[in-house]
Amino acid sequence: MESILGFRYGELCGIVEDAGGKKYSAKQLWSWLYKKSVTDFALMSDLPADLRSYLSSRFSTIPLKVETSQKSSDGTVKLLLKLYDSNFIECVIIPEKERLTLCVSSQAGCRFNCAFCATGKAGFKRNLSASEIVGQVLTASDFLCKKITNIVYMGMGEPFDNYDEVIKSADIISDDSGLAVGKRKITISTFGHIDGLKRYTEEDIRYKLAISLHNPFDSERDLIMPANRKYSLKELFPVLKSYAKKSNRKVVFEYILMKGVNDTEKHASELIRLLRTLPSKLNLIRFHRGSENDRFRPLTEESSVRFYNYFRGEDFPVVFRTSRGEDIAAACGQLSAERLSEVMN
Ligand code: SF4
Repeated sequence: MESILGFRYGELCGIVEDAGGKKYSAKQLWSWLYKKSVTDFALMSDLPADLRSYLSSRFSTIPLKVETSQKSSDGTVKLLLKLYDSNFIECVIIPEKERLTLCVSSQAGCRFNCAFCATGKAGFKRNLSASEIVGQVLTASDFLCKKITNIVYMGMGEPFDNYDEVIKSADIISDDSGLAVGKRKITISTFGHIDGLKRYTEEDIRYKLAISLHNPFDSERDLIMPANRKYSLKELFPVLKSYAKKSNRKVVFEYILMKGVNDTEKHASELIRLLRTLPSKLNLIRFHRGSENDRFRPLTEESSVRFYNYFRGEDFPVVFRTSRGEDIAAACGQLSAERLSEVMN
């Protein structure tokens, strides 16, 4: 059965009207789902009884369930979620001062097989529907009984490989009359899927954009991110420049530091050359070791500082992103529902 969470507000109005309901009933339904966090149609007391029974006969509500959870010593929480077809995904809740960020998955698995990423190793299962992405937000919020304030599409999967459902889910999550997570508080992170980026630019979509860069040389990036052979940096940067020009926004570059792979002065110089060509921000991220990642090692504290110092005096901001959830394998490149579900079974 299709989930009611997979519709933008306008589409939901159409469903209610088709069922003979009034427009304000759609507003009430939207409010139950996204303001009051009530997903049981029977409890939506101000909706006409015949509409409630029509909705329950046609639509399901939350299309996933929490199978297990883990909490890190730093407060980060990872949820393993079971989908209707017994596939598993993970999402990660990151508390930080006033913010509660949710890292959502956009696919069960991933087809792009980056060498340092546990998700890629598990292979691709399928795209998530918008309702399964929105469902992660409602489930996480319900789990902690707190409002999610920020969303990052950085969990399992490549968001632009599931473009329509990802944008639809972000539209539902950002709708002012519902969950109302601000557009500027939603970040879509891609390895550099050029087809998706071109469309994103053309359609003038205004969520924040992050690029998982990890190496500034095509010949080296090919080796750790096989998708680079199709979507090279040489072709990617002109597309990013068009995006930055049209949107008047910075592009955030994510760079996981891996010892002996992307940590030399030569890498820093090339990064500087690339990032000077458009409004940029650089996030340097500590590499998190997992059992799949024996080929890769984190930098020492000293080497990380040395790498950071190469960027002193540059106009674009450079920050070390805080490591979160390493002890529960919840960090970048560590999500692997496959592994977790194996442990559980
Ligand atoms: S890093 Fe992203 S694109 Fe690469 S395999 Fe992992 S999920 Fe897929």
